[in-house]
Amino acid sequence: MVILDRLPTKDRLARFGLLVDNVCGLCGAGMESRDHLFDDCSFARGVWGAVLNAHGPSFMARAWDERLHWLLSNLRGKTLRVRALKLLWTGFPYLIWEERNHRYHRNLIRSIDVIVNRLLEEVSTEKQGTCKFPCSAIFPGSLSMIYSFYDLAINACLDGQ
Ligand SMILES: [Zn+2]
Repeated sequence: MVILDRLPTKDRLARFGLLVDNVCGLCGAGMESRDHLFDDCSFARGVWGAVLNAHGPSFMARAWDERLHWLLSNLRGKTLRVRALKLLWTGFPYLIWEERNHRYHRNLIRSIDVIVNRLLEEVSTEKQGTCKFPCSAIFPGSLSMIYSFYDLAINACLDGQ
């Protein structure tokens, strides 16, 4: 859904005449679209930044389609590295979209720290086969972010042993 841009984001709902307010509920600034929610949004970037804590900004320079192509070409196999990366790529949009829906439908607000901790907790529990993220929705990213996530994921998995 994320890759195909089929999520019912506000920009799409507005195009169908179903919504007038299309402001992002996470940052309150940009227009809510797929590219905004998972790339441009200051809240999403805050999650990335808190997780990466370094080396993150370079991924912003690359376009969505380019990052997706890279991801599909490089995340193959069933090694721990690939599994951890897939989990992070799926976990990020899952939690961002979940947070968006919590705010939009339930008026519940979680902080960036809560989202980051949940993402890393899920990576560490994935090794025991209890991951709750739907791994069919892969989210792309750049090389530098992939490798930063790789280090975090490996550490999280090792900590879970
Ligand atoms: Zn936003």
